[in-house]
Amino acid sequence: LSQRIPVAGDSELADLAVVLNTTFSRLEQAFDRQRQFTADASHELRTPLTLMISEAQTALARERSPEDYREALSGCLDAAQQMRRLTEALLELARTDGGSGAARDVFDLSVCVREVAERFQPMIAERGLKLEMDLAPVEIEGGVERFGLVVANLLSNAIHYNVQGGTVWLITRRAGDSAEFVVEDTGIGISPEDQSQVFERFFRADKARSRIDGKFGLGLAICRAVVEADGGTIQLQSREGKGSRFTVRYPVPR
Ligand code: ADP
Repeated sequence: LSQRIPVAGDSELADLAVVLNTTFSRLEQAFDRQRQFTADASHELRTPLTLMISEAQTALARERSPEDYREALSGCLDAAQQMRRLTEALLELARTDGGSGAARDVFDLSVCVREVAERFQPMIAERGLKLEMDLAPVEIEGGVERFGLVVANLLSNAIHYNVQGGTVWLITRRAGDSAEFVVEDTGIGISPEDQSQVFERFFRADKARSRIDGKFGLGLAICRAVVEADGGTIQLQSREGKGSRFTVRYPVPR
């Protein structure tokens, strides 16, 4: 692919060469992204794997107390669960990329949002946050499981990147020809430089801290992929130190 077709003269052939060269460039970029994705995924899997191996090696090196064994096993379990979360996220991306599993139904966004929010109530209470919901019924045609994943990812971020005593808003409404789902928080916000990158796979604004939490930087990439699979868009507005608002829009079925 590194060799380009020379563009000679002002003819249809020259036009064709330009089109082909553009296609080659796009393919090259796609291959690069794929390579980077594989490298990032392998790297993320290696971290918990290394942890499991070293826990097991230390435990087996000599005779230990039952408490020590218990501690080593618990470390292994944490690492294994982190690997499971990561593989599930990677599989979800692969499924969406492949365009498979695109089951479609007509469903009400507000019902799905209420169900997912219910699951997060304990976490919201534990963090001392306030949840405000304004959920008007609005139907779309798409995958209800996929939409549930979007709600869970955006809500989980709004909780995780919030501040003590902060608020999270969940809104569903009809806006013109669109069905809107909005998640807004009073959290740490996202800098203007990072805003264009947060939907990239494996991007994390604060890598060191995210790693400790077992976050991978895949949540928003998954959100974007699954929203687009149902013909929707996802948009971010944010101010550092003030908060963030993610707006998901789907066409309303006629
Ligand atoms: P993860 O949360 O696993 O790191 P995401 O893809 O969900 O990955 O988010 C990517 C990055 O975007 C996060 O690491 C964080 O820096 C930033 N981010 C996402 N949502 C928010 C939010 N609501 N407030 C502030 N920062 C956010």
